[in-house]
Amino acid sequence: MSKQQLQLFDIHCHINFNAYKDDAAEVIQRSLEQGIGLFAVGSQASTSRRAVEYANHYENVWAVVGLHPIHLFEQRIDETEAGGELAHFRSRSEQFDIDYYRQLANSSDRVVSIGECGLDYYHVPAGVDWAEFRQLQEQAFRVQIDLALELDVPIMIHSRNAADGSTDVHADIRTILQEYATAGQPLKGDIHCFSGTVQDMREYIDLGMYISFTGNLTYKPRRVDIERGETLWDVARAAPLDRILVETDAPYLSPIPHRGERNEPAHVRYVIQKLAEIKNMPIEKVEQQIRENVQCLFKVG
Ligand SMILES: [Zn+2]
Ligand SMILES: [Zn+2]
Repeated sequence: MSKQQLQLFDIHCHINFNAYKDDAAEVIQRSLEQGIGLFAVGSQASTSRRAVEYANHYENVWAVVGLHPIHLFEQRIDETEAGGELAHFRSRSEQFDIDYYRQLANSSDRVVSIGECGLDYYHVPAGVDWAEFRQLQEQAFRVQIDLALELDVPIMIHSRNAADGSTDVHADIRTILQEYATAGQPLKGDIHCFSGTVQDMREYIDLGMYISFTGNLTYKPRRVDIERGETLWDVARAAPLDRILVETDAPYLSPIPHRGERNEPAHVRYVIQKLAEIKNMPIEKVEQQIRENVQCLFKVG
């Protein structure tokens, strides 16, 4: 399929993960046949390298390389939304090796962004000091921001709060982004799998970020958000269409009607459908604007 026929993009999926070790080619093909281009996103050295290999191999597949904050520590991770055998894995402890990632990014013009990187307060390894944990995450995040600036590409940001709601990961990320902006180095990028409030969304946009929605947009709003008086649907309704992106984060967060199954990039169309429904806009208009947003931010398509 030629570039001209691309209809949509899944700007954040992990077809480079072991979840697809037996059928990645078919999963990618299913997406491309439907006119859906995709970004394979790395989470550590090995998966970042595989992302670049896929991007080099397939037209309409691009790569994002970086180190996810959960891989700074060795720990057991439970991802119930991934379903089946994907639900548990052990993360390895890795440090961000800027030389490795720089070389990887420079090895191919198919690398369009640095990430996913950021702060994750949800997965806290047992026995780790909180201050030390925070500092290590922030340090790795900042080095990746520096690399994105050096390479002049956007940054793809992961953000997740503690399950008990005791942290404000968005405030912490914005403090860092604001520091760069104040120092005359404004950043461009996206907040992937957006989970913040309407106010968070507005402040991120003021800092030059795009907001990316994933399959959980199709889920019924969480009780805790309803009680708070604001849900992810309210965020989607309030977000300006020219700053919205969509993704699957496959293999995780499969949208309805595939919730609980292994996700795949072709399912990004359910996220767009839901977005159009929430915003009460024709789906074609939503698709076209998001396509332009992807082209504008990542210079692809
Ligand atoms: Zn993430
Ligand atoms: Zn991800």
